[in-house]
Amino acid sequence: MAHASSIIDLARLSLSYGEGRRLDLPVRLEPLELGGQSYAVSPAGVDACLDVSRHSSGYAFRLRFPLRIEGPCMRCLQPAGMEAEVDAREVAQEGTDDEELLSPYVAEDELDLGRWAHDAAVLAIPTRFLCRQDCAGLCPVCGESLNDADPSDHEHDTTPDPRWAKLEELKLEEQ
Ligand SMILES: [Zn+2]
Ligand SMILES: [Zn+2]
Repeated sequence: MAHASSIIDLARLSLSYGEGRRLDLPVRLEPLELGGQSYAVSPAGVDACLDVSRHSSGYAFRLRFPLRIEGPCMRCLQPAGMEAEVDAREVAQEGTDDEELLSPYVAEDELDLGRWAHDAAVLAIPTRFLCRQDCAGLCPVCGESLNDADPSDHEHDTTPDPRWAKLEELKLEEQ
């Protein structure tokens, strides 16, 4: 993969008003920080698709790329992976004070693609990053993962959890 330049010089695209261009660009993503935890982007190099269109009043952008991130499950701490499709839009209008129309990634006819891609990737991470939707988490007594564990292994010598008793009943009924 060619070295990824993260700054796009918009003037060099020489787009006339009403014209658009689709660019396929390699983008390198740094690990993403979320709640004090680091999530690796794997692979770190993604093939991004950037649509640039020029209007009489400025530019409009759409950025898309597939994302795969890896990190610990928020419940059981086991390694987990997740895939997402990033699809983000920005507008950079000239001569306006409306912040909605002033992309923070555009300055002096340059688009900071690297920073935008990073921020868009952060937004694509779910607030609950789990190894699986129904992750059972860790045993509060011994700290082991309860996924695929036999509940009887985690009865320990404390007050029996009424939920386990209920489970045993269900098992008997199934037979
Ligand atoms: Zn988990
Ligand atoms: Zn346990």
